[in-house]
Amino acid sequence: MNNIKTLKHWVGKSDNIVLFTGAGVSAESGIPTYRGKGGYWNKYDPDKYANINYFHQDPSYYWNFFKDVRSPVLKKAKPNTAHRSIVKLENSGRIKSIITQNIDGLHKEAGSKNILELHGNTRMFSCLKCKLEFDFHQINDLLDKHLPPECTECGSLIRPNVILFGEPLDPDILSKADTDSSLADLFITAGSSLVVQPAALLPLTAKKNGAKLVIINLDPTPLDAMADLVININVSEVFLKII
Ligand code: NAD
Ligand code: ZN
Repeated sequence: MNNIKTLKHWVGKSDNIVLFTGAGVSAESGIPTYRGKGGYWNKYDPDKYANINYFHQDPSYYWNFFKDVRSPVLKKAKPNTAHRSIVKLENSGRIKSIITQNIDGLHKEAGSKNILELHGNTRMFSCLKCKLEFDFHQINDLLDKHLPPECTECGSLIRPNVILFGEPLDPDILSKADTDSSLADLFITAGSSLVVQPAALLPLTAKKNGAKLVIINLDPTPLDAMADLVININVSEVFLKII
């Protein structure tokens, strides 16, 4: 509890907060995390559905995973207390940037504005050949007809607009995230195991440039030792108490 009071005090004094979010923020929306409590189902192997080389080798593996597991979860998922509290802090002018590793689009759905989606968005898709884009609704319709889904324009393979393992991040988004992190006076990570690179370098950049580093996560992270404050409490409970 004292930790939350300290965080509330720091939030009150800051005017350039950067929030870095991970899968734990969406856990209460019913979207499983990869690591830690509530980790992803074992039925599909992330080394296959989240890997670009495997996607080219056997795209139907990804699309079976999407149709069977991811799409039903996304259809039900709604922003939770954490997403909504973050919107309030953003509207108060304190949070300047939300850097998210999440691909579920829930920050946007909740009403946040300055979002940098480091790993893309799993509700948008594009044709590998002609680049035509498809939304979540369209892709579900196409999946009912054919798996893997085929481009309505040229018949080619469609991919999700997410960064898969083995692919570089979008350099413009990464560069903006890096600049925002270096300008932060308070850098808060929430619901991230802080092991996925290069995303997990951003807290280091912030700290190196003088920000206080706060880590909110149920499980320990490799950066705990260098943080100014570590809070091992449910992220929505923490945010509800600091707004
Ligand atoms: P991660 O799965 O590696 O770690 C999640 C962390 O959240 C765990 O350490 C766990 O202790 C913590 N956690 C779980 N529930 C929590 C809660 N209610 N409050 C506080 N902490 C909680 O997640 P990551 O660091 O974001 O890395 C996962 C990678 O997988 C990312 O690249 C991301 O793109 C992708 N991913 C995204 C989603 C999503 O969009 N919702 C879900 C799973 C994975
Ligand atoms: Zn096409």
